[in-house]
Amino acid sequence: MASQTPESALIRPRNLLGKSPEELRAFLESLGEPAYRGAQIYHALYAERRFDFANMTNLPAKLRDRLAREAAIELPRIIRKHCSDDGTIRYVLALGPPPKDSAADDRLLPSATIETVFMPEENRQTICISTQAGCAVDCHFCLTATLGLIRNLTAGEIIGQVLLALEDNRSALKPQTNVVLMGQGEPLLNFEPVVASIRILLDPNGMTVSPKHVTLSTSGIVPGIERLAREKVRPKLAISLNASSNEQRNEIMPINRKYPLEALLDACRRYPLRPWEHLTFEYVLLGEFNDSIDDARRVVKLLANLRAKVNLIPWNPGDLPYAKPDPARIEAFRKILADKDVRAFVRYSRGQDVMAACGQLALMEMGAATSNLTQISQ
Ligand code: SAH
Ligand code: SF4
Repeated sequence: MASQTPESALIRPRNLLGKSPEELRAFLESLGEPAYRGAQIYHALYAERRFDFANMTNLPAKLRDRLAREAAIELPRIIRKHCSDDGTIRYVLALGPPPKDSAADDRLLPSATIETVFMPEENRQTICISTQAGCAVDCHFCLTATLGLIRNLTAGEIIGQVLLALEDNRSALKPQTNVVLMGQGEPLLNFEPVVASIRILLDPNGMTVSPKHVTLSTSGIVPGIERLAREKVRPKLAISLNASSNEQRNEIMPINRKYPLEALLDACRRYPLRPWEHLTFEYVLLGEFNDSIDDARRVVKLLANLRAKVNLIPWNPGDLPYAKPDPARIEAFRKILADKDVRAFVRYSRGQDVMAACGQLALMEMGAATSNLTQISQ
């Protein structure tokens, strides 16, 4: 029989990142401390972004010392920063093995590498985060799909990306932060950790991001959409439509065979929108494949009776057999939608020169000679 890894080698400090207020209270109680200390740690972590127990000055010095010995706050580690000419930063991040208090099997999960994108704008920053390392959904136009699913991220690893991007740009932050769950992975196939991280993000006692500024994008996992509909705390929802018929969608998104357009759009019609809310449909325009006038007309029909807007995303190239759409066809497509009162916007992705654009997150490394690449030693 193979020798077993000693238990002590598996036990890692208890990572508090990603824990809810209830979990932190229970943890402090388990240490024999008053439960309200858990709420103080929650506030220090998410509202004040303090990642060192020594700086949590709202805690007594003795407790700070004890936490430093018996717990940890583990942010993802930056391996590389790719800085685009347009100000976008693509981070390549290393995730350690998950915390010891995960389910027993989780302790044996491998370390993984993911990507996070920081996009500064005039009055705000948008942070695009990953929810899984790789993705199992296999959309044929998306480079992330070529990685396959490596593993699900924990809530701490998901919220840690936002904290890290804010921290790394601390001196240049604008008043508003937008978060989009549009990096690597299918968020609704890692439901619980994703929702746990969103609760912290939207919590007025936590990171206080407005639900109007957080968008979860899904390839159309119908049971996940139905489950999200029942959540009290929800972000905005975006659905990757990407085709105008089942036949066409089957060809580029095999997930459509499981959840065809009728079922997907039915779930969308039943989705309980708040008064200020609309659904966003993303439509990646693949040159000469789904960008014709007839496609646009079919999209108008599909979206009838939905409070929706459409983001048209010209395909970002990767080493895949698709083409960028012709600018005249993009405009003709947009106009058909607009003329039929479907709000439609063309969204050119940022950071294309550093492979930071939608669908380009597949851990591609540019040549080391690239001047805008920063290597960070681990
Ligand atoms: N898995 C989720 C979220 C991540 S993908 C989803 O699929 O919705 C985020 C968006 O990028 C999706 O709308 C997807 O259709 C789009 N996308 C994927 N590959 C792309 C590419 N090469 N060019 C432009 N958009 C792409
Ligand atoms: Fe996964 Fe989204 Fe890429 Fe499809 S488009 S493979 S769901 S990341």
